[in-house]
Amino acid sequence: MMNAIVFSGVGETTYMKVPKPQIKKADEVLLKIEAASICGTDVHILSTPPSYPATQGIVQGHEFVGRVVEVGADVTSLKVGDRVVLDPNVFCGECYQCKKGNFNMCEEVYVLGITDNGGFAEYTVAPCKMCVKISEDLPAEVAIFAEPLTCVVSAVNKVRLLPGESVLVLGAGPIGLYFTMLLKANGAGKVIVSEVNPKRAEYALKAGADRVINPNEVDLVEEIMKETDGHGIDVVAEAVGTLIQTAIDCVRPKGKVVLFGMDSSMRPEVDQFKIVRNEIELYGSFIGLNTLPATVALMESGLIDLQQLITHKLPLKDFNIGLEAMRDGSALEVILYPESDENE
Ligand SMILES: [Zn+2]
Ligand SMILES: [Zn+2]
Repeated sequence: MMNAIVFSGVGETTYMKVPKPQIKKADEVLLKIEAASICGTDVHILSTPPSYPATQGIVQGHEFVGRVVEVGADVTSLKVGDRVVLDPNVFCGECYQCKKGNFNMCEEVYVLGITDNGGFAEYTVAPCKMCVKISEDLPAEVAIFAEPLTCVVSAVNKVRLLPGESVLVLGAGPIGLYFTMLLKANGAGKVIVSEVNPKRAEYALKAGADRVINPNEVDLVEEIMKETDGHGIDVVAEAVGTLIQTAIDCVRPKGKVVLFGMDSSMRPEVDQFKIVRNEIELYGSFIGLNTLPATVALMESGLIDLQQLITHKLPLKDFNIGLEAMRDGSALEVILYPESDENE
């Protein structure tokens, strides 16, 4: 048996003993979890009513770092002892979308830690094809960012930013901060972040923003026009889920908007005329597509300082402390360390 955080009912988790998982398919590996982190999605899963669907009874946790302790019969690219991060969105490889290469749109997808057992535990099982090896030198406290970061790398990949171009990031939660770091590292000129929470505004500056604007205090669109001589921003990244119109009002004609935030309960009004008249390029971006190896290379390069975003390090049994901190906005990255009981 092992300790795990189980999604036990609406808005509820239980720290409990569950059977240690076993390899069932020949392409799977058994991982001993080094560290896991709480994602905004976990908060949505555990809200009442849930604002993100998940399967009750599963071990939660889709962001984790692990070491391979056993491999299935068909596994050739990983061996016992390897450290890995992984994309928890397990695609089938055979459906219409997968055959078109759109693995992030798989029609038969299952997700470790959301629809199936994940990493808030001592061990988990994952298909080898979802894992990417990391070096022994990469601290778990950096590697833990792999899953959210690969999604943002995928989004950044879409906008093809030119060196020196101006960027506006809407929202400075973890995703907005990754956008800030990545676009800066990608050669952005002026990076402006819009955020209402003063604590998060501070982090945005640390993450490389040149200026943070509080849209509750000043007119964001007016400020953006002042900052850009009335032209508008080259690239806008939306990390909130409801601000598409703000993005359209701030971007320059023929500029690019990448929409990343999601809120299924909202139907924001959109000025279609402006999108057409100004030939604004809009990109929706959902999870990651083939960007995990690049993300690992990025983390191993040390190009961006991710560890500054860690606000909490807790034993797995204190999951609820971390969850509360995520809920009240005082946490950015909460890292959980699984514990085993002696003499088992
Ligand atoms: Zn996540
Ligand atoms: Zn598929």
